[in-house]
Amino acid sequence: MTSPGHRGAIEGLSALEARLADELAFLQLPAPRWTPALEHEGVPVLDVAIVGAGMTGLAAAAALVQRGLHVVSYDEAPAGLEGPWATTARMETLRSPKQLAGPALGIPSLTFRAWFEAQFGRTAWDALDKIPRLQWMDYLRWYRQALALPVCNGHRVTDIVPRADALVELTIAAAGRSTRTFARRVVIATGRAGLGGPSVPAFAERLPRTRWAHSSDDNDYSELHGLRVGVVGGGASAMDSAATALEVGAAHVHLLVRRRDLPRINKGKGAGNPGFVQGYARLPDAWKWRIRHYINVQQVPPPRNSTQRVARFANAHFHLGVAIEDAVERGGALQVRTSAGPLALDFLIFATGFKVDWRQRPMLRHIAPCIRVWKDRYAPPAGDEDEELAESPDLGRAFEFQPRSGAHCPGLERVHCLTYPATLSLGVITGDIPAISEGALQLADTLAGLLYAEDIAYHYARMEAYDEPEILGDEWVAEPLPPVS
Ligand SMILES: Cc1cc2nc3c(=O)[nH]c(=O)nc-3n(C[C@H](O)[C@H](O)[C@H](O)COP(=O)(O)OP(=O)(O)OC[C@H]3O[C@@H](n4cnc5c(N)ncnc54)[C@H](O)[C@@H]3O)c2cc1C
Repeated sequence: MTSPGHRGAIEGLSALEARLADELAFLQLPAPRWTPALEHEGVPVLDVAIVGAGMTGLAAAAALVQRGLHVVSYDEAPAGLEGPWATTARMETLRSPKQLAGPALGIPSLTFRAWFEAQFGRTAWDALDKIPRLQWMDYLRWYRQALALPVCNGHRVTDIVPRADALVELTIAAAGRSTRTFARRVVIATGRAGLGGPSVPAFAERLPRTRWAHSSDDNDYSELHGLRVGVVGGGASAMDSAATALEVGAAHVHLLVRRRDLPRINKGKGAGNPGFVQGYARLPDAWKWRIRHYINVQQVPPPRNSTQRVARFANAHFHLGVAIEDAVERGGALQVRTSAGPLALDFLIFATGFKVDWRQRPMLRHIAPCIRVWKDRYAPPAGDEDEELAESPDLGRAFEFQPRSGAHCPGLERVHCLTYPATLSLGVITGDIPAISEGALQLADTLAGLLYAEDIAYHYARMEAYDEPEILGDEWVAEPLPPVS
């Protein structure tokens, strides 16, 4: 039986969906399809294939559909379980402030706030502090359904091969079968670890896998009950992992933080303004490097509520200025060497972030050797070296991969990157809630323009063939000039 509150929420959402339909109609969105319907090997060619249907893939799909393009987004995850929110993330609430417009693409009824108020009302909105993690996933599910976005779940892209004939060939595994799809452009929207995977110290690879996890693994934390757990790192994921371990009854959780103090100020947040969002990509390389390196060095503080979630446990231990140097399994435990002395643990969690590592992304194996990264072209000033930045792809203004010197990969420029590692080249429009709409819209506008330009002969011929009269010739009667008097 549905409760009155639940019924009200359903009615609220229906009303919101009607308003959304109006807003889209007022803006004449989506545009009708205008690109030629191409076929290759008897199957339709997509204008754009998107790899990933997390928040970024959805926003990109929505923006491209609005521009009248034929798009499909593929995600290996089951429907509704894309991205970290309902899978590997362990925070109670989002870090991002509730009022951000997120992937709404400038349409008021597509915002989280509109979705929330439609169901729970303005008073509840005013009372809401931060967005609960799973509620954000519910919103993304609604976003996709309300826009009827073309997403294929359970479809893993296993290979991407650009070709000389202006097509990109994708191999896609689904339901135990492997098929090929062709697209004119491909957008990689595979998330924070999208061009690699977890970054863990080399000694972790020598430990039995039963003894450690990365914070992004979906391991069962209930197995940590009664154990001595070490969490390496001091960022948001470290706090979330530590808190989850404590909540399931870990005997002790030791946070091993290399820095002498936790970062307190989120410099990236302080840099955010429309100029930073729109203008960053135009900056000279030296400024891009300087900004991103500064933000990297300063680091992002863990959210206050996440830190308090850990600190309320008496068996949580914050060890600052303690670097982990090595660990071995001996005598049924982990013997950990730190810069402050030895520590005996049962399990280690590395909350050490992600890195670009092409080997961890087999779908990119064909193009990875050709892709230019920043270290191929740019040398930072002495003292400003930064491995994360050095390995970032050096993208063009169309979000496209560019070939490194001597590489032969025709069509590489048809593969576009909308993931976190694109941030050094293009700024904060390449992922995360604050500027994802700007990124999706810029990408959609750019791809629409590129597709138009490369089909110019087709569009010109269509213009010539266009024959819909606006006046019929019966509106007037032609007269000779009056005689000169
Ligand atoms: C724990 C955690 C907390 C976060 N909190 C915030 C926050 O509060 N605010 C914020 O702005 N950002 C936050 N982020 C960053 C967050 O990841 C992004 O904002 C958001 O998830 C980006 O969406 P995305 O679509 O780019 O990536 P994701 O959400 O990661 O989606 C990528 C998708 O690509 C799919 N995929 C990958 N490879 C393939 C393949 N080969 N074939 C098919 N599909 C594939 C995956 O299944 C996945 O669904 C957080 C990240 C983490 C890990």
